[in-house]
Amino acid sequence: MLLRENVIEAVGPTAELTAQADEVIDARGLVLLPGLICTHHHFYQTLTRNLPQAQDAELFDWLVAHYPIWARLTPEAVRASTATAIAELLLSGCTTAADHGYIWPNGARVDDQIAVARDMGLRFHASRGSMSRGRSRGGLPPDDAVEEEDAILRDCERVIREHHDPWRYAMTRIVIAPCSPFSVTPELMRASAELARKHEHVHLHTHLCETVDEEKQCLAEYGKRPVELAESVGWTGSDVSFAHAIHMAPEELARLGRTRTGVAHCPTSNMRLGSGIAPVLAQRDAGMRAGLGVDGSASNDGSHMLDEARHAMLLQRVAHGASAMTAREALRLATRGGADVLGRDDIGVLAPGMAADVIGVRVDDHATAGGSVHDPLAPLMFGRVANVDLSIINGTVRVRDGHVADMDVPALVARHETAARALVG
Ligand SMILES: [Zn+2]
Repeated sequence: MLLRENVIEAVGPTAELTAQADEVIDARGLVLLPGLICTHHHFYQTLTRNLPQAQDAELFDWLVAHYPIWARLTPEAVRASTATAIAELLLSGCTTAADHGYIWPNGARVDDQIAVARDMGLRFHASRGSMSRGRSRGGLPPDDAVEEEDAILRDCERVIREHHDPWRYAMTRIVIAPCSPFSVTPELMRASAELARKHEHVHLHTHLCETVDEEKQCLAEYGKRPVELAESVGWTGSDVSFAHAIHMAPEELARLGRTRTGVAHCPTSNMRLGSGIAPVLAQRDAGMRAGLGVDGSASNDGSHMLDEARHAMLLQRVAHGASAMTAREALRLATRGGADVLGRDDIGVLAPGMAADVIGVRVDDHATAGGSVHDPLAPLMFGRVANVDLSIINGTVRVRDGHVADMDVPALVARHETAARALVG
């Protein structure tokens, strides 16, 4: 593969590529793949992994256990967790991630995340997410974890103006992302959609149809199922994606398919919280854009993109039998599928003209032994690969020999643990 600056110039047998290059990387023993694309995460949750009181809770109780802790987030906690989450993503093969930050207390801002992602070289879709309905207004979060709607919308405009890049090969895009129907008002959903659509390539994202509890609450409060509520506030289309999308009626996913609405499938989190099995293949077949997300690190305590693809494949097999999803289909969800969900035609494929986002996974060691001789690709899905060996993002090496380049990871972890203790203590 020949990369020129941040773009793939040629792919083919080595002898057919130019012999001239500033740097030659010997990739013998590696399978090269397009960088994996994570369509849903909450970086800040690395700080609250495995909280004893939330280890065995379902979504609403899990949220209620976490909200007061998250309400103590600080700018430093956001920076430390963002760096930790990105290091983990890079090592697991992810080169582009969408993060869904929706809680911004004590001066924490999405700008803190964007600065860290730029520094570490991750291609980043940053959410200016939000919560506006505290408990006193019938919402689930405590009042000190939410913001005023006018202030949210003003800050969304500011963040787009200061950081959003609509161009090809963009390293930073902004997503407008109210947290969920039970933590904002329908008015904020509608206003968010209007705001996003004034700007090119600014997408909309929220959690939807994650649990039966959400469906019950939505019906009780609005007399509408979650998908109907989303439709009623303009939240369908090729610029909209929903995390989870588990509890959807067949006619609902057919309607969302017709509008090319997207889904971020998060199988590990869905298993962890006992939320259910999303009909991701039926959604894709109906025309929905479908990709994978690891979800936040407090509901998927190992945020590993290769693992996520493996879990997607295995979970569909639990529901629909061994032929439900192939290894290649799982990889496709993690690459082209994710690119579709994020509205990008410049990532997810190794071909001339695409962004130079490439990972290399070793297939000559114990984890793949006996598998890669038969099929070099399948062991990456059927087996468990600890780390990728190589990651190049936008033409720059970010993981070399299985280590994050130019980063003292133990020092980062020490800093992160100080922030995690301060948050919970
Ligand atoms: Zn989530």
